[in-house]
Amino acid sequence: MFCWELRSLPDSFRILTYYLKEVRMENVLKVAGLRKFYGGLEALKGIDFEVGRGEIFALIGPNGAGKTTALRIVATLLSPSDGKVTFLGFDLKKQPEKFREKISYLPEEAGAYKNLKGTDYLKFMAKFYARSEKELGEFIERAKDIADLGTRLNEKAGTYSKGMTRKLLLARALMTKPDLAILDEPTSGLDVINALEVREIVKRFAREGISVLLSSHNMLEIEFLSDRVALIDKGLILDTGTSEGLKEKYKARNLEEVFRSAL
Ligand code: ATP
Repeated sequence: MFCWELRSLPDSFRILTYYLKEVRMENVLKVAGLRKFYGGLEALKGIDFEVGRGEIFALIGPNGAGKTTALRIVATLLSPSDGKVTFLGFDLKKQPEKFREKISYLPEEAGAYKNLKGTDYLKFMAKFYARSEKELGEFIERAKDIADLGTRLNEKAGTYSKGMTRKLLLARALMTKPDLAILDEPTSGLDVINALEVREIVKRFAREGISVLLSSHNMLEIEFLSDRVALIDKGLILDTGTSEGLKEKYKARNLEEVFRSAL
């Protein structure tokens, strides 16, 4: 019996590793041929990308590239002009409510209600999502843990620094453990320490199986955060891959150089 266990161990590991890889690589979000017109301006010219379970996927590109537009469409806040978006098999056009149930969106310029104390803001937001008192308590506790603001949570959000506000909002976005978190420029305008903390929170939740779709124009920072990136410019995706893979492909030292070569 003991020998059998030893002999079978490598196989078991192989099966387990294969299973974990397959589960992780299952694409939960699929975006195909996505186009968006604002009047005569074509902000997205037919983009395709997929995001796996527990994957951190970043759209990176300069101002005006179309990142926010793409994120807002997946968040069901904008309707696409053309293309298909599915999430966990649900079609965005036919079942947008299924998206809203499972997705959480943090806009770039979001703010908390300045007159509410941090704790009250989290309670207020948790009430929209909780289906029971027990769940409400869990959401609030998880949010407090994510925000990690200690006794400052008892003060009004209007007194918070930009970094504290961002952590409070990130806590609001992640407290329900959504299947997909959409984060628009989650670290923009933050100092090094706050940006690092936000990145760590995002990574922690991705390890727990939350898929993350984020945008950034900070290409160097994104190398440390995302599993894969899509380079986007003027409404078109120039290339997609892991930072390492893209750097190798373009013989570049970092993603900024990759971007320049891919243009
Ligand atoms: P940034 O990094 O500056 O936020 P972005 O990559 O997120 O840029 P978008 O905000 O998606 O880019 O904008 C893409 C293009 O669409 C830009 O040319 C922008 O001016 C235009 N645009 C965005 N929203 C609207 C709107 N509501 N009406 C008209 N044009 C818009």
